[in-house]
Amino acid sequence: MHEIYDAYISSTALEKAEKLFELAAKQNLEALGLLVGNVYSNKGKEYVLVENFITAKNLPTAVSVKFTKESFSELTKAYMRHFKEKKIIVGWIHSHPTYGCFLSQTDINTQKRFFSAPFNIAMVVDPMRIQNSRMQEKVFRVNANGYYEISFCIYDSK
Ligand SMILES: [Zn+2]
Repeated sequence: MHEIYDAYISSTALEKAEKLFELAAKQNLEALGLLVGNVYSNKGKEYVLVENFITAKNLPTAVSVKFTKESFSELTKAYMRHFKEKKIIVGWIHSHPTYGCFLSQTDINTQKRFFSAPFNIAMVVDPMRIQNSRMQEKVFRVNANGYYEISFCIYDSK
């Protein structure tokens, strides 16, 4: 029997994010974007499907990243097409160049403030840590006690 993962990530969406993270990492900067998709249920178990990655102008440093004020109208524009297809923001993704995948206290606060639905995910990528020719990638959720890692797989969307 196939395992049911907590999250399924489109390979094309992830590649878009990875390219951005790689470019930013060359300048020793973080980067971020939003994950668009939906939540489904299989045999009573809920899972998140990530179908697209959208982003806008980032305001990054080596250890933090956020959107600018202007980014929000850019993001809204990027999201409209997906909104019409009844897709939702299922979470966000950002990079931690060289320092590994975890949620900082700032990341936890961001999750609580902007991604507070129980299904919302936070994906972290370290584009400088390569394992089996892939960047280190982890997916998390936040609860009252802190955060925990969830299972995910990357599906071929080409
Ligand atoms: Zn972070």
